[in-house]
This record gives sequence, C-alpha cells and structure tokens, in this order.
Amino acid sequence: MDPGIICFQHCGPKIFCFSLPDSCPVCEKALDNANFSLLPFRVPYPFVQASQYPCAVVIKPTTGDFMNDYFNSKDLHVGVTTSKGTIVEFDKNGLRHHASLQWGQCLLLDRAPGPWRDHWDATLRSVCAEDCWSPEDYRENSHNCYSFVLKFLVDLGYGSLSRAAKSRTHFCEEFIIPRTTSAGKYISLYRKLKKNGIYVDRTKMD
Ligand SMILES: [Zn+2]
Repeated sequence: MDPGIICFQHCGPKIFCFSLPDSCPVCEKALDNANFSLLPFRVPYPFVQASQYPCAVVIKPTTGDFMNDYFNSKDLHVGVTTSKGTIVEFDKNGLRHHASLQWGQCLLLDRAPGPWRDHWDATLRSVCAEDCWSPEDYRENSHNCYSFVLKFLVDLGYGSLSRAAKSRTHFCEEFIIPRTTSAGKYISLYRKLKKNGIYVDRTKMD
C-alpha cells in the first residue's frame, strides 16, 4: 500500500515526510502560510498490484515484499499476467495460475496493449502446455521463473521486450535494473522515514 510520502522545499533542501510538519525542520519557521520554494507533492509510489495489470510482466522479491524485505536484484521472482489479470508463474512448485495477494506489491516491467490480448493468451497457453514446467523440472539456477517468462516473451515476438528476452543478461540490463534502481530510491527513502519520521536531503542543495 502507498505510504504517501510527501516532498517539499521551503528554505533550501528537499524535505521528505509522511505528513507535513508544523514548522520547517531546517529554518524552524512555521509552515502555515509559508512560501514554499517547492509546493508539497506526493512522491509517486512505484509498485502495482499485478492482478490489475493484464498482459504484463511483473517482478517481486522471492520472499517478502519490496518495501520491507528487498535487498538486491538477485532475489527477484518474475511472472506474467493473462488478459484477465491471472498471475502465471513457475517456481519450485511447478507452474501455477492464481490471483495471489502475494503479487500485491510488484514492479511492472512492461505490458502489451489491448490488440495483443488474444495473441498474448494463446502464446502463454502454448508455452504452459510444454512438458518442462513440473516441480521436478525446476532448477534454482538454470531452469527457473526467468526460463519460463523469457521463453514466453521470445515466442510472443513483442518488440524490444522479446528481443531482450533472448538473453537473460540483456533482459535484466534493459528491463529489470532500471526499474529496481528507481524503486530502490523510493524504498530507501521509505526506510529512512520509517526510522526517523522526516528526512532532509542535503545532498542536492541548489
Ligand atoms: Zn525552512
């Protein structure tokens, strides 16, 4: 759930908080009727609920959630959604289709627009029907969630996403790292605020 991080600038540095304080933590002047150099705004929450994003590729931490448990991109689990928002994933339990709350806080890697719907579902059905997604077939390092999603994306033939999917390294560099890097900034801000209530960013003073 979006914790509602607020950002504003009063007399200098950017200030982040969950709710606007009565006075500026930098100059201590009252903030009612204050002249903000940057008006308070809500920092965009980067995570989505997978089931609300049909025909999408999504990632989440293998265990726990991004905001509290995410450490680095090695711990990520990837899945896809059908045109109805059902999550399809391959892990040590084999292939599963479900509408899981465990995918309530994930990052959207990409999604296909409406006209792709039928082709998306048909390709997904045909990849799922292949005889290599049982719990016994699963190998943590060599035949895992990425193997399933990348095979699907290559078969799908959907632009740069499918081209990148031919190599796990390219796919990570082009689609995963940029998103986890930007989400990482939000996560570290959230953890600072949870600890201290307010955060003054003195690194980028104008
Ligand atoms: Zn101030």
